[in-house]
Amino acid sequence: LGRELDRMLASLNGPQRQAVVHEGGPLLIVAGAGSGKTRVLAHRIAYLLGARGTQPGEILAITFTNKAAGEMKERVATLVGPRARAMWVSTFHSMCVRILRAEAGKLGMKSSFTIYDQGDSVRLMTMVARDLDLDAKRYPGRSLAAQVSNLKNELIDEEAYVPGTAPEKVLAEAYKLYQQRLRQAHAMDFDDLIMTTVHLLQAFPDVAEHYRRRFRHVLVDEYQDTNHAQYVLVRELVGTGTGPVPPAELCVVGDADQSIYAFRGATIRNIDEFERDYPQATTILLEQNYRSTQRILRAANQVISKNTGRRPKNLWTDAGDGELIEGYVAENEHDEAAWVAEQIDALVDEGTVKPKDIAVFYRTNNASRVFEEVFIRVGMPYKVVGGVRFYERKEVRDALAYLKVVANPADVVSLRRVINTPKRGIGERAEACIENFADRERIAFANALRRCSEVGELATRSLKAIQEFVALLEEFEQLVETGSGPAALLESILDRTGYLAELQASTDPQDEGRVDNLNELISVAAEFEAASPGGTVTDFLEQVSLVADADQIPVAGDDAGVVTMMTLHTAKGLEFPVVFLTGLEDGVFPHLRALGDPRELEEERRLAYVGITRAQQRLFISRATVRTSWGQPAYNPPSRFLDELPGDTVQWAGKEPAPAPSTGYRSAQQRVAATGLSTGGLRGGAGNRAVIAVDVGDRVSHDAFGLGTVVEVSGAGDKAQATVDFGSGGTKRLVLRYAPLVKL
Ligand code: ATP
Ligand code: MG
Repeated sequence: LGRELDRMLASLNGPQRQAVVHEGGPLLIVAGAGSGKTRVLAHRIAYLLGARGTQPGEILAITFTNKAAGEMKERVATLVGPRARAMWVSTFHSMCVRILRAEAGKLGMKSSFTIYDQGDSVRLMTMVARDLDLDAKRYPGRSLAAQVSNLKNELIDEEAYVPGTAPEKVLAEAYKLYQQRLRQAHAMDFDDLIMTTVHLLQAFPDVAEHYRRRFRHVLVDEYQDTNHAQYVLVRELVGTGTGPVPPAELCVVGDADQSIYAFRGATIRNIDEFERDYPQATTILLEQNYRSTQRILRAANQVISKNTGRRPKNLWTDAGDGELIEGYVAENEHDEAAWVAEQIDALVDEGTVKPKDIAVFYRTNNASRVFEEVFIRVGMPYKVVGGVRFYERKEVRDALAYLKVVANPADVVSLRRVINTPKRGIGERAEACIENFADRERIAFANALRRCSEVGELATRSLKAIQEFVALLEEFEQLVETGSGPAALLESILDRTGYLAELQASTDPQDEGRVDNLNELISVAAEFEAASPGGTVTDFLEQVSLVADADQIPVAGDDAGVVTMMTLHTAKGLEFPVVFLTGLEDGVFPHLRALGDPRELEEERRLAYVGITRAQQRLFISRATVRTSWGQPAYNPPSRFLDELPGDTVQWAGKEPAPAPSTGYRSAQQRVAATGLSTGGLRGGAGNRAVIAVDVGDRVSHDAFGLGTVVEVSGAGDKAQATVDFGSGGTKRLVLRYAPLVKL
């Protein structure tokens, strides 16, 4: 082991080594991207175990993502072997869950509590607001939830919160009811996990002492993204030494230029004032970057230098110049995705990189869909990190299973998936009876269902339920025969089976998200109808299953792996030989929300810095001239960050960007301003879209069909439909909620 340690120490530069062997007081390592901060943490742990006699159980290391925690554990395990398992290497949230599950009794909670993610908490808050009869325009659930989250990040619980103004009083009331609902559901939201752990440690000195005795070393990665609650949590765990236990050794690493979680209350202050908070602290700077080529580093340094009030850094690399950054101006988002796929293909063909060496980054999660569709079409193996793939969600699969049954009654897998979904009283026993009958008669399961009255052994109630189910299926088949397209059929299925009603009536906040996803699925179907008029349900299913069958894409050779796609936020701390940074448009990246706000713009710029500095050898950047947003084309100007790149680092390709037409189109920015939609909710699907109002005689423009005249209007609200005469394009009936239609 001694020789291993020597070798390890020899692989570090001077300041890195100093950080690894540092003993005693708190240690702060501040340094730019790729300078080995995370590596130093891993090596420090190995050194503690190997040279200082620390037991693995005495180590608590906190990383920002579970993926990072996994990698850290692996890095340490290769250095010290399986002993590494007793260490706690986790995110703040998983660490808190672990402590809270162990100590739940002290707080009068079940240790099996449920965890609500951000979407769940917004939905719960929306229900609370409804119950309090709050005006949904003035007090949207999303905004109340965000304010409660901010309070929790500041460790202000519902009892401690003292409202002043009238809106604050409303907030206080909502906060109280929200917490009450959480307790009734035996649930905690993300912010509760941290706040409750802090309160636990403060309220029960014996519990605090227990953990302080246990963790003699606390190490925190990505310290720039800790918020106040996390800061206090670390302080509580380390202790001040005034009790029976001396303080733990604390080592934190971070880079103020990579702070990208201000919206979660993260504060660079925690880095900037570390020395004041821990007077005996030692600070170490790392300045050599070991990750990227000079060009990539120069681009990153230049962009981040536009931020104000930062400590200038002297980050350098002795890697060579490297290749030029390649830029592409795409016609639209599909063209952009196709270009990315082409470049990847070419790189892999050259044989220098494998798919696993390549990452595609985008600003917001919803951007993955177009990349997924194109990658599937060209057979490029990929995975999306973070976020369940749309077509894998239960409700989406359920709805598609119904469509499949209608299109193909013999699809027994789909049939049995939906036979009792939603619950309609056809139990397993009844299903088994039908199956036996089918076997005996040598007929298909679907036919056996239709002949259920002959089965004999069925209870009257089951028989009735099956007959009703069969009648429903026949109704859907009728719809198809009379020419309903997939969108109308889906709507009818969700309505007539009671599937939607059940979700809408549910008090489980997750169900509201499921409703949104079903809306999104209907708009996928509407898009399909617009793109391929006359397309059948089977055609639609075929298109969708190509997207949904991503799992079955053959992985090209075992170790070649797959291309990774993720948001920029998820990319923090990672590195890839080849990086694609996409959607570089004002209004996309930087995000629409940030355009008018200098502080948010600086945060977006840090995000750009994070993105650029993930690349080791090659960086590709792209933007689209026109991009669909809210179902309509948006001409966004090039991202201002592009102007900030040193000109001699980038080589551009692409079609000459078409000028934006002077009428008929608006940028996403203008459109959002015009509709008064909150810019915070850009990720929403069709579920959030306002239904446009049209009258007979109105002139309209449709994405696919062009100009037309409204000849008939029917239905209201979400169900409103219009029949539009598109001249030579034919006459179409459109569901207004989903149709990509603008009134002229
Ligand atoms: P980020 O700010 O992006 O989190 P970081 O400062 O944590 O970056 P690391 O991920 O630890 O940087 O290191 C970046 C890369 O440089 C890694 O591949 C790491 O193995 C390598 N590296 C760091 N220090 C050295 C060194 N002394 N010798 C060789 N390679 C090194
Ligand atoms: Mg790191």
